[in-house]
Amino acid sequence: METLDRKALAGLLDRPALRSLLEVYNSRGEETRIVGGAVRNALLRRPVTEVDCTTTMLPDAIAERAKKAGFKAVPTGIDHGTITVIVDGEPFEVTTLREDVETDGRHAVVHFGRDFGLDARRRDFTINALSLGFDGQLYDYTDGVSDLASRRVRFIGDAHTRIREDYLRIMRFFRFHAEYAEGDPDPEGLAASGAERDGLAILSKERIRHELLRLVVARRAEDTIRILADHGFLTGLLGGAAEFGRFNRLASVDREGPVPVWRLAALAVMVEEDAERLRERLRLSNDEDKKLSAYARLLTLLKTWALPLDAAAMRRLAADHDIEMLDVVLAAVAGEPFPIVHVDALEALTRFRSGAEPVPVFPLRGADLVEGGVPKGPKIGEMLAQARQAWLAEGCRTDEDYAKDLLRRVLEQG
Ligand code: ATP
Ligand code: MG
Repeated sequence: METLDRKALAGLLDRPALRSLLEVYNSRGEETRIVGGAVRNALLRRPVTEVDCTTTMLPDAIAERAKKAGFKAVPTGIDHGTITVIVDGEPFEVTTLREDVETDGRHAVVHFGRDFGLDARRRDFTINALSLGFDGQLYDYTDGVSDLASRRVRFIGDAHTRIREDYLRIMRFFRFHAEYAEGDPDPEGLAASGAERDGLAILSKERIRHELLRLVVARRAEDTIRILADHGFLTGLLGGAAEFGRFNRLASVDREGPVPVWRLAALAVMVEEDAERLRERLRLSNDEDKKLSAYARLLTLLKTWALPLDAAAMRRLAADHDIEMLDVVLAAVAGEPFPIVHVDALEALTRFRSGAEPVPVFPLRGADLVEGGVPKGPKIGEMLAQARQAWLAEGCRTDEDYAKDLLRRVLEQG
């Protein structure tokens, strides 16, 4: 218990916008509490980024009171009874208390209720079911406090039953274990997850994607990914091979600001086909897909780079590739036999990353060629591409004399 910070709960209730909200929603026979992640994280002294509330009020009443109080109400999940209430620019999800009446492994039919205990027991893990009253009272219907104190992620009730209600809870079990637990996963939860593994197949790709991308950046992602593999989950999730070494090396240097898509790349992308498969399997966004494909191409390029990478090579790479990605790929392959990377190359990369040295930018534009007498048209693009090749081969110089000379040469060659 001493590892939990009960005073932080008071701090949570001192937030002015949240106070205003709770004042409005705790009157005239209605009760509204803070629930879930905010309470859990406050007790752990972890940052509280979003605050969810549950209430005895029905969605219409939530919206109506918001309007009267001058808050903005956005019906974000009206079927589920969720309204986002914005107070002084800060959004809060306010959800009517619910009870599950029917589940099919991926959806639940819910009834609105007025019982905080029942609402807590339909949640997934004991540490996610705590609620905090406006008066500062902490409610714990499922022994969440003791599990939180001993850093244990446990299903509420029988793990098999809870997983069969919603197979996504398998993914969430590992995600929350990775983020909040110490020691091994709860044996009952682990065994039930393994036994119910095939159920993951009925879930939507979007839901899997969401949990997987959060899992790969969780605090203990490395250990947990290993557990996923050891228990036969990983191949099914990724649809291909995993590179633990690269994942672990990246995780050992990006801990301050891990980026989900780069972690996924290090783990699961070896060639461009991997990127294509993952896009499809996980319904990745265009931006994520582009990043994975670019990672694959750069990885292939570096693995087949004939010479050791020196500062000049790094300059060329920086001119042609996203610096952040270059850093990611090099972190992932560090220690592998190829590429061979010289210290001065890494130093150059650090200078580019910090801005101490500007990333070289190709100095010619189409307009320069037009001015030099080349008629507008496809020829311009071809000439620029040729000039760019020369520029890369000649060390990516950006000084004016060089640029003038390069222009003269392309114009001469026509
Ligand atoms: P995070 O900080 O990671 O967002 P969180 O606790 O807010 O943590 P969410 O995924 O946002 O996690 O879910 C909010 C709450 O809703 C959870 O704390 C949990 O009580 C409940 N919950 C979410 N998904 C499920 C689910 N599939 N089954 C049961 N309860 C769930
Ligand atoms: Mg949340």
